[in-house]
Parts: sequence; C-alpha cells; structure tokens
Amino acid sequence: MRPTLARISFAALAHNLELARQYAGGAKILSVIKANAYGHGLNRAAKALQASDGFAVLNIEEAVKLRQMGIEKPILMLEGPFDADEMSAYSELNLIPVLHAEHQLEWLKLSGEPLDVFLKFNSGMNRLGFPLSEMEVVLAKVHAHAQAEQITLMTHFATADEDMGTDWQWHRFIEKAQSFNLPISAANSAATLRHQETHGNWVRPGIMLYGSSPFADVSAAELGLKPAMTLQSEIISVQAIKPGEGLGYGLTYMADESTRIGIVACGYADGYPRHAPTGTPVLVSGHRTHTLGRVSMDMLAVDISNIPEASVGSHVVLWGEGMPVDEVARAAGTVSYELLCALAPRVAVKEE
Ligand SMILES: *Cc1c(COP(=O)(O)O)cnc(C)c1O
Repeated sequence: MRPTLARISFAALAHNLELARQYAGGAKILSVIKANAYGHGLNRAAKALQASDGFAVLNIEEAVKLRQMGIEKPILMLEGPFDADEMSAYSELNLIPVLHAEHQLEWLKLSGEPLDVFLKFNSGMNRLGFPLSEMEVVLAKVHAHAQAEQITLMTHFATADEDMGTDWQWHRFIEKAQSFNLPISAANSAATLRHQETHGNWVRPGIMLYGSSPFADVSAAELGLKPAMTLQSEIISVQAIKPGEGLGYGLTYMADESTRIGIVACGYADGYPRHAPTGTPVLVSGHRTHTLGRVSMDMLAVDISNIPEASVGSHVVLWGEGMPVDEVARAAGTVSYELLCALAPRVAVKEE
C-alpha cells in the first residue's frame, strides 16, 4: 500500500478544545468545522470536539451530516442562507443563520418557525455584514418579521492575529452593540487566544482546534496546542547525484556537491503545495531536513546527505508531529489553513 497517510488525532482535537475553553473563560464555544473541518473530516472532528457548545459550518450539506450524527447542539451557518429555498432546511434542522445582508432578512420571513439568528455587522473588515450605523434599523426589521427567537450580535476581525489587533474594530462594534443588551459573538482563534475583552457570549475558534497558531510570532507549541493532523509518508527511492547534476522537473535544483536524495511518496496531488520551494522543512527518520527541487504530482525530493541511516522505507513527516504545519506553510509562502484544507481525498486517513 502507498505509505502516504494522514493521521488524525482525536486526543489532540479534544486537548485543543479544552485549551480553547480555558482561554475563552466563560464564553461558550462554537467550534468552526467548515471546509471538512479544515481537512480533518467533518464527522470525525465533530465527534472529537463533541464537548463543544455548538458548531459552525458553511453549507446545508454539512449541517445535515451533523444532525444525522445525532448532534442536537446549535449549528451556526457562517454565511447564512444562499437562496430562499434553503429556509425550509433551516426550520427543519433548526439551524442558526448568520444574516449579513438585506436580502437575507426577507428570506427569514420564509422560515416555517422562528429561528435563533446571528446578525453580522461590518466593523471594518468590509467583507460581510450590515453597516454598524444600521444596527437599530436591522433589529427593528428582524423584530417586525417576528421570525427571530434569540438574536446574537456578531462581527468578525480582520487583524486579530496581527499587531493591529482587535481594539479598533471592537470599540466601534461594542459602542453600538452594548445598548441592545443582546448576546455577542466576535472572536476567532486569534482573538480567543489574545483578546479576552472580545470574547462575549460565543467564541468561534477554528484553526487553533487543529493545533496551528494563528500568530506569526508565537508557535502552536508555545500556545500549548497539539497538531491534530500528521501528514506522513516514506522514502521510496534513494538517489546520489554529483556536482553539476540536476533534480526533478525543470532540473530547478542543481547540486553543487555530491548529494544524497530521498524520493518521498507525497506530491501536490496529495495536497502538498507545489509552490513549496527548495529548502522547505521536512522530517526524515526524526531528523529535520528540507525539500529539493520541484514538488511533482506524486513525489517530492528531500536532502538526506546528513542522515546516513535514511533509506528506502524511512519515515517522513511532511507536517504534524515533530514538524509544525505553520513552519511548512511559512516556507511555502502560505498559511496552515490552506495546507490543511487542501489535503487530498486520495490520502488514506488513520484515526487515532
Ligand atoms: C472561519 C471563521 C472563523 C474561524 O477562524 P479561525 O481563524 O480559523 O479561528 C470564525 N468566524 C468566522 C465568521 C469564520 O468564517
């Protein structure tokens, strides 16, 4: 069997949730499991994160799967209904829509029964949400429809993970919101970890649950997070190349000294980023080394010149235990979110 494998740790997911709970103080936790739980598997993650107070997803299909599992907890639909037809599913499955725009307020009337709703306001990210200045008007409309049970006021931060922080958005938002005395939801992972004042009633952690740090300057390990996904494989061939010889497609890597190379059974069709340059860190037989040359569809090459014991069959960790996904993402010029989400369906998964 091809040795390429994604190991998903239930213990790590549960541990990271527990840590989120400690950071969150008294706020309840909506575990964000959109995008197939950031590549970890929706059902699997929902099971491992069953101690959550609720879940947040994007599509009706995801909500259906959660209800079919017997999950009765609140399910927040992060972008609300995409068309009027979806409202019947909202009533049937008792889903909580995020309502962020005028057309969705109209659709709310179509719900068979009153629903809990999150009203999303734009406090500066300028992606989704009603203008803050319209908070009274929007609330009046929702009340007029009489189709809303519990209303929660929500916003989303653009720079919670950066030096700019959340103050600039939080102050705008809370200044408006506080007068209505309604529950609040604002914090993603970064704000859950670093901006306690924004926790409100519901925090919405995603990436931290999977064991990755939202911050460039603090590692997941420093935060106490454990990697939930380990992408691993093995060396399936060893090559020795001489100075002046090249490697792989385009011969983009040219050896300037004798180099021992391990060919690993993992490529971009498994979800490893093709744009990862020579030098991207990788673990071989427990030793840190790096990739060489272009990533191919099914294989990539690693430098094993300094790992004499490495040979065919040697264990390789692309990311996860012993090789933080955040480091690989940084080397590849992207973020852990993209790498985790891109895990390809052809990769075998082992739950542990
Ligand atoms: C995806 C998402 C989150 C989770 O963000 P992380 O950075 O992964 O913690 C929270 N809120 C909303 C609205 C989202 O879309």
